[in-house]
Amino acid sequence: MLQKNIESLLEQLRKYEQRYRRKEFSVSLLAVSKRQSIHCIQNAFENGLTHFGESYASEAIEKIDGLRDYPITWHFIGPIQANKTRLLAENFDWIQSVDREKIAHRLNDQRPIEKKPINICVQVKISDESNKAGISMSQLHPLCVLVDSLPRLRLRGLMAIPAPKTDLRAQQSVYKPLKETFNQLKSEFLTLDTLSIGMSADFEAAIAQNSTLVRIGTSLFGKRSESV
Ligand SMILES: *Cc1c(COP(=O)(O)O)cnc(C)c1O
Repeated sequence: MLQKNIESLLEQLRKYEQRYRRKEFSVSLLAVSKRQSIHCIQNAFENGLTHFGESYASEAIEKIDGLRDYPITWHFIGPIQANKTRLLAENFDWIQSVDREKIAHRLNDQRPIEKKPINICVQVKISDESNKAGISMSQLHPLCVLVDSLPRLRLRGLMAIPAPKTDLRAQQSVYKPLKETFNQLKSEFLTLDTLSIGMSADFEAAIAQNSTLVRIGTSLFGKRSESV
């Protein structure tokens, strides 16, 4: 089941790359394993996936500890509480949900010296929903300047979670301003290479709007359980 899902998802990525004139393999897959078991992650790894995304700090740390022998690249994609930044800085390779200065400073201060700088995506709010995390487009530039200046952080990209829409064109129109902003920022910040947009329900639209990393949970693993 999982193997089939992975195969068909990778096929779809290649298909949409062609359809929207993207370079082959320019879109990577982040397997979102929140609320899925360690066994699921092992299984996905055996089937070739190496990048996994988690949203809840303590649940994630348990899995990372349990899978120390696996060369997995771990991405944190959930809301960040200031009192969890040390755990994140010590255990993750990527943090995709940085949306304020204080969090950037804390991650920089707490990243262990023996590890490489931690890869950062700034999370941008692209739909007007007060409950969604992310910095507004108008405040994005100064936060990128800050992240870029901190030595233990490496500015890699932008991440966004739009309000759900079902229509392909509506999905694309929400992503379009972000794509344009990303292109502008890229000429200023040379380490910026990741546009993390697209989930199970809208990854075609995201690929059409230059996504380089789709974050897929449900279409890979099926429905999530309430608790692990
Ligand atoms: C849960 C989650 C996903 C995956 O969503 P699916 O609809 O299950 O593919 C992607 N990104 C973030 C930030 C998430 O929290």
